[in-house]
Amino acid sequence: MINDVVDLKNKNAKIVMDLIRFGDPLTKKEISEQSGLSITTVSTICSDLKALEIVSDEKSGNSRVGRIPSRIAFHYERFLVIGVDLQTDGTVGIAVTNLRNEILFCHSYDISSLETAEEIAAFTKEQFLANAASCAPEDACYIGIGISVPAIYDATNACLVSSSIEKYEGVPMKALFSRCFGLPAYVDNSSNFKAISVHTIHKLDNIVCLDISQGTGVGIICNGGLLRGKNGYGGEVAHVPIGDPSLKCPSCGSYGCIEAELQLEHLLSFYPDFVESRPFYAQWTDFMDCIRKKQELFQPMLKRSGYLLGCLGSILVNLFDPSLFIISGYMADLFPFLEDHFMGQIEKRCSLSLARGLTFQAENYHSGGIYEGICDTIYNEWSPLDKNNR
Ligand SMILES: [Zn+2]
Repeated sequence: MINDVVDLKNKNAKIVMDLIRFGDPLTKKEISEQSGLSITTVSTICSDLKALEIVSDEKSGNSRVGRIPSRIAFHYERFLVIGVDLQTDGTVGIAVTNLRNEILFCHSYDISSLETAEEIAAFTKEQFLANAASCAPEDACYIGIGISVPAIYDATNACLVSSSIEKYEGVPMKALFSRCFGLPAYVDNSSNFKAISVHTIHKLDNIVCLDISQGTGVGIICNGGLLRGKNGYGGEVAHVPIGDPSLKCPSCGSYGCIEAELQLEHLLSFYPDFVESRPFYAQWTDFMDCIRKKQELFQPMLKRSGYLLGCLGSILVNLFDPSLFIISGYMADLFPFLEDHFMGQIEKRCSLSLARGLTFQAENYHSGGIYEGICDTIYNEWSPLDKNNR
């Protein structure tokens, strides 16, 4: 019963905070009108939030003219989130953002000499204290830490599975970082963080974010919530068997998995100057230049990849009926060259959704954008009125 009351208060507090998180301060009357909460509820919530210094009254205008109602302002600059990006092997990215997703600190560090996840967590804490902490305002309050991993977070045992970086496989990453930083921790893959970020910005309830880089990941917002499934495996498409039946999937060992054909490594096999020993990322940039200059040479690859991406896209559109479909990762660079082949499949198979305004966007957001998704996720998980959470 007490929990229900606290939950309800936190829920209402978030409704109020959502209205002023990215916008101008509002009067209680405006908050009440925009949220549908009663003026009494808004007043109570604002008093609770004021006591915790999360919001404050802001007076403006000329007081001699008459009584000017004060506006409620959110101290987004005081409440911070730590973002950790472990997507790329041998690198850790650390960022500090405030609750308006403004990045106060962002830097990547070489961790290729570190062997275990424990060492990496300790190193991240050290770098955070030495470099990032000084960017925060004096009265800063960290509300949580989010870790982006190239793996699935298994909700049943809180460990990572299906990790494309071997040393993270089976690691209880959430407990590890939570203990190390003394903060609530949240672990997820970049597609899910991206989906949450798009959901926050666009206020859309049905979104598919397809991220194709070293792996193939999908983040799905379905009816306003992130799709997870029973164990957290929901929305996985890497092993959908619609790819080349002669290609063996390096991770599951089956033939024809779509990931084996669309992943970075396979696409790079079409790059005439490919060198095994050079980093993939550098070669990808060169390969893209090569395609831009001599597009006709790569038509068979572009046609096949566009067709396959269109087949996967049409499966996802038919299953989830999104209003926005985002393609991100390295595939976003290639997308303009294969868009016609992609849309050919979508137009054939998803005409109902297209007629209702389904739109597609390709955007590449190497590291940067992930921290906004982490910040939005930690903000969503935050119960501002629970003192033990702060
Ligand atoms: Zn597979």
